[in-house]
Amino acid sequence: MNHKLPLICPNCSLVRIEVPLDESLVCSRCSATFPIVESFPILLEDKTIRTNLASGNELDGARVAFYQNDEGYMPISEPQPLLLSALSFSAGEGPVLEVGSGRGAFRNIAGDHVALDLSLAALRRNLAGHSGLCASADLIPLASASCRFVFSVQTLEHIPSTDRAFEEIDRVLAP
Ligand SMILES: [Zn+2]
Repeated sequence: MNHKLPLICPNCSLVRIEVPLDESLVCSRCSATFPIVESFPILLEDKTIRTNLASGNELDGARVAFYQNDEGYMPISEPQPLLLSALSFSAGEGPVLEVGSGRGAFRNIAGDHVALDLSLAALRRNLAGHSGLCASADLIPLASASCRFVFSVQTLEHIPSTDRAFEEIDRVLAP
């Protein structure tokens, strides 16, 4: 996990939740606790889901079960030239954020690539040892203007609140 990431609390939007307990982050404003599993902080808004994910309990409901299952994810073989070309023009500070990292095909696209995925299972299976966040695209737990490049492949069509996801991507992207 990249400890320099400017994480924000999905519960109260406090920038930089950095009160680390042994295996979790605690927000110094609202005291919400965010478990860390195999170096991936679970920065989801729903406390019940956070708790159950961290303890490995089964989750009910189709969309919720998705958190524990990445079998539907498309295998993507290699980065598209257009993406690499766009990345080469990125400037400024902050990491390269991938929204919906799935099977981790793009993990080596940049040295400071940060994977974000709703599925903790996908992160654990495909991005072990990599910098990653278990979070939703419509509530990205990073400070505004903190990423120099953001990309997403075969993800946005799966997000119910696409408009909100675009707003979040726009917010975290450095001007
Ligand atoms: Zn908070």
